[in-house]
Amino acid sequence: MVDAIADLRDLIAHASRTVIFTGAGISTESGIPDFRSPGGIWTKNQPIQFQDFMASEDARRETWRRKIETDKVMLQAQPNRGHLAIAKLMHMSTVRHLVTQNIDGLHQAGGAPEARVIELHGNATYAACLECAERFELEPIKRAFDTDGTLPVCACGGHVKTATISFGQQMPQEPMRRANEAANNCDLFIAVGSSLVVYPAAGFPLIAKNAGADLVIINRDPTDQDQFADLVIHGEIGPTLAKVVPLD
Ligand code: NAD
Repeated sequence: MVDAIADLRDLIAHASRTVIFTGAGISTESGIPDFRSPGGIWTKNQPIQFQDFMASEDARRETWRRKIETDKVMLQAQPNRGHLAIAKLMHMSTVRHLVTQNIDGLHQAGGAPEARVIELHGNATYAACLECAERFELEPIKRAFDTDGTLPVCACGGHVKTATISFGQQMPQEPMRRANEAANNCDLFIAVGSSLVVYPAAGFPLIAKNAGADLVIINRDPTDQDQFADLVIHGEIGPTLAKVVPLD
């Protein structure tokens, strides 16, 4: 492990265009469960498909019920050492972009420069109309739902959903374009806390590798992409990154 930390420091020091890519694993130390670890979200609830949300009032009701439930944890969560180390790297070194699958906003809360955070799966801290993209704050929606089960509908008639990308929903074009450009033009790509199975997001490590970047994977459990990486660290993210970037 000591050698691996030294190797990672060395790779970061010698790279001139680094991209960091994160998944749900970076937020478990903040108390937000990931999808696939034991006790993760998938062991309790299967995700609601986008098509079902659009077609069924029951699915929309269940979506908002779950949202109110998960916010009890998500709204308490604070950035942990992993988020802080990445934010520090983005300010100090040549880390240009942070591509995240996460929807919790903890990278930005931890100090990562907003303009260089690319959110592939949206953001769960607000909602949006699926027709006209009008933004909605969550508190009034949750209050009305809690009071009498009212489902949010936009003035244009569109359904309102958290501003996240559900399974079956089209990926957002601009974040995908920016992530693709970042992956194709970096010389170091560091994937942190992702099982690397949710596509198309999980395609970015190999896009970077195939374009000539060194690939590092930091994750508690092995991933199918470990075999392609130049460095793999199987460990806890916070303690690992805090050794790479001392947080004083
Ligand atoms: P995943 O649940 O499929 O994989 C998470 C990986 O992180 C696992 O392989 C696990 O071994 C590892 N991990 C968990 N805690 C760790 C820790 N402390 N240290 C080291 N490794 C750790 O997550 P994914 O690949 O991001 O895909 C899941 C999808 O679910 C994503 O699309 C994401 O948008 C969404 N999601 C987001 C959040 C969030 O925003 N915090 C939470 C759950 C799910």
